[in-house]
Amino acid sequence: MPEISIVVPLYNEAANLPLLYQRLNQVLSTMGVSCEYVWINDGSKDNTMQVVRQLSAQDSRIKYLDLSRNFGHQIAVTAGLEHATGKTVVVIDADLQDPPELIQDLHQKLQEGYAVVYAKRRSRKEESWLKRFTARSFYRILKFITNVEIPVDTGDYRIMDRKVVEVLKRMPEHHRFLRGQIAWIGFDQTFVEYDREQRQAGETGYTYRKMLHFALDGITAFSDVPLKVVTYF
Ligand code: UDP
Ligand code: MG
Repeated sequence: MPEISIVVPLYNEAANLPLLYQRLNQVLSTMGVSCEYVWINDGSKDNTMQVVRQLSAQDSRIKYLDLSRNFGHQIAVTAGLEHATGKTVVVIDADLQDPPELIQDLHQKLQEGYAVVYAKRRSRKEESWLKRFTARSFYRILKFITNVEIPVDTGDYRIMDRKVVEVLKRMPEHHRFLRGQIAWIGFDQTFVEYDREQRQAGETGYTYRKMLHFALDGITAFSDVPLKVVTYF
């Protein structure tokens, strides 16, 4: 059982993957821990899959899944979690917006006895003010209408203990909202802060359409306010 599994969802990330791999390797060798990579190609339209095959031919720690089409980020991560075998599991984006070097801090904090350590965005150098604004509002609306403590300004970048992953794997919902589900699971959870970088190359796979679906999944799964509104009318 490796100490850390690194789960990375990939949608059109051919230009980012080599540098991501290099930076991850560097951090993990500094940390001196055993690891495995679990990469999930989520129906990419570029040559992500070629890069995955190339790298995995040289490194037996790389496992990969090649999904039959684009299912979306949350499903890709879920598939990765199914196949991760590590004592702890890290979920990280491929575009280097989540700095791999932070894994050292996340892992260290976890050793203090936490079950989840998530990475909270202190600042974000994001592509547009509209994205920042919609993301900021979404987290706050969600916080306001749900009774589960879902951390604000936090994506899926985090480290989890195996026991959390096992519970997560038993949750059957199709419309995944992982950061909410993980909050709901409980145990001791904490965070470390970081400054979110810009995407290294390529463009976001989260269109506004996908973001809206994602937000609605989060809201309908974690709040009864929409049902109450419907009932009222
Ligand atoms: N991603 C994915 N499927 C999708 C969209 C995105 O697997 O349909 C991956 C993507 O490759 C990246 C992560 O999910 O590793 C976050 O996506 P992105 O950076 O495009 O989102 P943003 O940071 O703009 O919210
Ligand atoms: Mg990104």
